[in-house]
Amino acid sequence: MSDAETLFERIIAGEIPADVVYSDDTTFAFRDIRPQARVHVLVVPRKRYRNVAELAAADPQLLADVVKTAEKVAELEGIKDTGYRVVFNTDSDAGQTVFHVHAHVLGGEQLGLFGR
Ligand code: IMP
Repeated sequence: MSDAETLFERIIAGEIPADVVYSDDTTFAFRDIRPQARVHVLVVPRKRYRNVAELAAADPQLLADVVKTAEKVAELEGIKDTGYRVVFNTDSDAGQTVFHVHAHVLGGEQLGLFGR
């Protein structure tokens, strides 16, 4: 992977403002700037991997931390009991635009079906 910084490193470093929902030693969660649901929060590991497959291969514990933070976000946002979706877009056909792995946590309303 290239060493070029992504937008999300700059958000984690506080260089770009973000609406932070939760952070801990290994993960960071902030609201998506273009929400696709009433609740739309991005969860990223502080350490950068390109996508979820690279993260899973390199550091399964860190992937578990990301998933635990997604659940924590759902709890903080009051959607843990009503249900929520966790999505990792992976590469171009999925529309991944930022190549620092991130989980989208979506909920707070009835979500549409998958697909186009
Ligand atoms: P991707 O398409 O899965 O890579 O998701 C990238 C997400 O980052 C998109 O949902 C964007 O709306 C979101 N995004 C882009 N710039 C910012 C920002 O500055 N703050 C918060 N979210 C952002």
